[in-house]
Amino acid sequence: MDADAVVVGSGPNGLVAAVTLARAGRRVLLLEAAERFGGGLRSGELTLPGRVHDLGATVMALALASPAFRELKEVGSLKGVEFAHPAVPAAHPLDDRPAVLVHRDPRRTAEALGRDAGAWLATVGATARAGFPLVELLLKPLGPWRVPPRTFAQAARFGVAGALPATTFARRAFSTVEGRAAIAGMAAHSMLDLRSPISAGYGLLLAALTHLVGWPLVRGGSQVLADTLVAELRSLGGEAVTGHRVRHLAELSAPTVVLDVTPRELLAMADLPAGYRRRLERFRYGPGVFKLDWALDGPVPWRDPAVAGAGTVHLGGTLEEIALSEAETAAGRHSPRPYVLLVQPYAADPTRGGHTLWAYCHVPNGSAVDMTDAVETQIERYAPGFRDRVLARHAMGPAELEAANPNLVGGDIGGGLASLTQFLRRPVWSPAPWRTPLPGVFLCSSSTPPGAGAHGMGGWQAARLALRSGARP
Ligand SMILES: Cc1cc2nc3c(=O)[nH]c(=O)nc-3n(C[C@H](O)[C@H](O)[C@H](O)COP(=O)(O)OP(=O)(O)OC[C@H]3O[C@@H](n4cnc5c(N)ncnc54)[C@H](O)[C@@H]3O)c2cc1C
Repeated sequence: MDADAVVVGSGPNGLVAAVTLARAGRRVLLLEAAERFGGGLRSGELTLPGRVHDLGATVMALALASPAFRELKEVGSLKGVEFAHPAVPAAHPLDDRPAVLVHRDPRRTAEALGRDAGAWLATVGATARAGFPLVELLLKPLGPWRVPPRTFAQAARFGVAGALPATTFARRAFSTVEGRAAIAGMAAHSMLDLRSPISAGYGLLLAALTHLVGWPLVRGGSQVLADTLVAELRSLGGEAVTGHRVRHLAELSAPTVVLDVTPRELLAMADLPAGYRRRLERFRYGPGVFKLDWALDGPVPWRDPAVAGAGTVHLGGTLEEIALSEAETAAGRHSPRPYVLLVQPYAADPTRGGHTLWAYCHVPNGSAVDMTDAVETQIERYAPGFRDRVLARHAMGPAELEAANPNLVGGDIGGGLASLTQFLRRPVWSPAPWRTPLPGVFLCSSSTPPGAGAHGMGGWQAARLALRSGARP
């Protein structure tokens, strides 16, 4: 194909870039290294025949909130994708007391927090009430914005709290074990030491999305979303190829190239000016994850039965315990009682061939330690008898994750450390960090703003820049 644009990599960012360019009339060729499209949206039978597991993202809160996906939905590019909502977006079990349940309804969530009810509504609730305009500002930190002026005031208020370390924010704003633990569970998604600046911001945003859009998953597996976008690309005249790893930009002859790759891969595939090369070499990757998928013969036997209705479950106990676990990881050690992020898709989607489950804990980047026992022990702590339900398990440490997807450098699922520095310099300090110094070459992965998550915003930004740069049909 004589393409106007080649997109390398078919994660959510690459897919959004490819469809956006194709919708603008460009002839697009999408090249994917793996045997299936999707990157972090891939699904497969990891345990037993007929059991559908998501290899990466399951929770589609960021997709639903993302201006890019909202635009694609409006124009009909997501036809056939059904989002299934669990009864409860997220739960946080605690020892010897009821679990914290984060409901769609902020008031219902707050009521169960006792004297922290007001704090929840004034922080998480206020962020959710600010709605899509605030989310747009947060997912497009460098613009362009089309938001009402009051959103900037709401963003400033969000910024004051969100800039704090999660530990400081949780202790200042909340006084109960439950309220503080709930914030820690949310903030730990960032993979940051919870004593780091802006870790509160990630927690606040993710918690607010439970109320604003819910934490749904894609019926049938995240692969359905990826395959729908590939079908849309093809219907627009584009071509999409799997099993094609691009090793050097010299292989590509199109006037526009959009790369859904990390800075490490860009360094390996391009002859870059020395200054830019040095800046990319300074880019830092975050901790890795150790991920387990299970086929179960029934639901997880949670001690608190209310947890059964939750799509996502945060395990690890109190703010102090979770903060310790994340501090250990950040210091390059393995926590013996790790924070565990667990997703039970069957709570919302009966089409995955039975009770499938996944969970991961954070580990130092590149770790080769088997964390199966530590993760399962944390589950047993809140669900005694869990191991008896396991029919089959599948484990992926950093090496296996990276082998499946070169963007998961050392098992880092965030495309680079989510620190304050790398929020501002992702991967370089620039008003348009998606642009590289090479004419017509753009970077769109989660190593660009706004960072990790299945929101496609890096792809949307890179495609927009490419179109403005005058790549011709
Ligand atoms: C276990 C796990 C759980 C997660 N859970 C969630 C969640 O619940 N919700 C959420 O929002 N996010 C989640 N994430 C994060 C989310 O998946 C990522 O942030 C997102 O997929 C990043 O999108 P991307 O397009 O930048 O890159 P990726 O999705 O990583 O895709 C990059 C693609 O590019 C391909 N590629 C790389 N180099 C080349 C090359 N040289 N040639 C050809 N192809 C190449 C790769 O094979 C890959 O398919 C999770 C991630 C993981 C791994």
